[in-house]
Amino acid sequence: MTDTTAPQPATRLIHHPYQPPAGFDAPQPAVHKASTVYFPNVAAMRTREWKDKTGYTYGLHGTPTTYMLEERISTLEGGLQTLLAPSGLAAIATVALSLLRQGDEVLLPDNAYGPNKALAEAELAHYGITHRVYDPMDVQDLAAKIGPATRLVWLEAAGSVTMEFPDLIAQARLCRERGVASVLDNTWGAGLAFAPFDLLGDGSLGVDVSVHALTKYPSGGGDVLMGAITTRDQALHLRLKLTHMRLGLGVGANDAEAVLRALPSMALRYHAQDDAARALARWLGAQPQVVQVLHPALAGAPGHDHWQALCGGARGGQGAAAGIFSVMFDARYSQQQVDVFCDALRLFRLGYSWGGPVSLVMPYELGSMREGATPQLQPGHIVRFCIGLEDVRDLQADLARALAQAFAG
Ligand SMILES: *Cc1c(COP(=O)(O)O)cnc(C)c1O
Repeated sequence: MTDTTAPQPATRLIHHPYQPPAGFDAPQPAVHKASTVYFPNVAAMRTREWKDKTGYTYGLHGTPTTYMLEERISTLEGGLQTLLAPSGLAAIATVALSLLRQGDEVLLPDNAYGPNKALAEAELAHYGITHRVYDPMDVQDLAAKIGPATRLVWLEAAGSVTMEFPDLIAQARLCRERGVASVLDNTWGAGLAFAPFDLLGDGSLGVDVSVHALTKYPSGGGDVLMGAITTRDQALHLRLKLTHMRLGLGVGANDAEAVLRALPSMALRYHAQDDAARALARWLGAQPQVVQVLHPALAGAPGHDHWQALCGGARGGQGAAAGIFSVMFDARYSQQQVDVFCDALRLFRLGYSWGGPVSLVMPYELGSMREGATPQLQPGHIVRFCIGLEDVRDLQADLARALAQAFAG
C-alpha cells in the first residue's frame, strides 16, 4: 500500500525542509536569483516595504545581491542611493524619462556620449521634449542656453571621444544657481578621479545625479552591461526609483555578482590603466604622424587646467584619469591610411567600450558627431585608444609597428 498522505517525490523535491546553517561567511557575496520572493503571511505581504530596502517583494525590486551592489556603488560615487539598470544607456534613458516631461528642455554638451544625444533627437523629441547642445568648453554658452523650460543639464567630464575636460565646478555651480537639475555621466571619473557630489572637497557643491556605466571600470571584464543612477537626495531618488520600477528595469543576479567580484580590484585597475595610458599618450604625441593628443592629464590638452584643478590632487599629486585618450593624425594623411593603421594593430582590438583587460582602438568621424565649432581641436583624423591591462612595452611596440606599416613613405 502506498502512503497517500506523504507527498510524492516531485513535491518533496520542491518543498524540502532542509535549511543550511546560518552564518556562512566568505569573501564573495552570494548570488540570489529570484523573480518570486516569498512572504511569510498575508499581513507581511500587505505591509512589506521595498522602497527603502527594509524588505523584499519581488525579484525586479531587489535581492540581497542587487542591494549589496547598490550600496557599494553609492559608496564609490559618494552618494546615498543607487539604482541599477541593464546598461549605462538604460540608466541615462531612465533619468531622462523620469525627470523630463512634455514642454521641457534638456541641455547636452556637444561632446556628450553619442547615444545620449540620439535619445534626445528621437524619443525625447517625439514626446515633446526639446534639447539644445552647448559648448562644453564655454560656461557662458551654457549660462546663455539655460532658459525657462530647461529642466535638466547633462554634464560629462571628460567628454566622449574628444576628451575635453570642462570646468565642471563652474558648470555645477551654474546649474545650482539657476535651479536646474544637473546630471553627470561619471563613467570616465568612475568615482575615483573626483567626487561628483563633493566637487570642492568641503561638501558645498555637487551634481544632483551621477550616472555610471558599470560596463566599464566596475565590471572590468568587457563581459557585463550595467548602469547605475546615484543621488544624494531621497526625494529625487524616489522619483527616479518609481520610474525605474514602472519601466521594469532590473539586472541579472549573475551580472550583479560579476560586478561585485570586480569591485575590489577596481582602484588598482583604474590607476594602472591610467599610468599606461599616459605613457602611451605621451609617446604617441612625440610621433611625427600625430598632431594632437587628447588626454586631459597631459599639459596642452583641451581642458587640462580644469582636470588639474579637479583631479590633479589625487594620488599624492599625480592626479587620476581614466585609461582612455584620443590622438589626431595629421590631415595630410588619408582616412584610408588611418584605417590601415587601426587594422594593423594586433594587441589593440577594434571594438567599443573600455575599462576591460584588452586594449581597444576605434577611428571616429568627427564631422558627424559635433554641432558647434571645435577650435580646441586640430584638424585631422581622430582615433581613440582604450588601454587594457597588457604590458605597456608590448602595447608601445604594437603601436610603433602599425605606425611604420600604415604611414611608410
Ligand atoms: C559606455 C558608456 C555609456 C553607456 O554604457 P553602456 O553600458 O554601454 O550602455 C554611457 N556613457 C559613457 C561615457 C560611456 O562610455
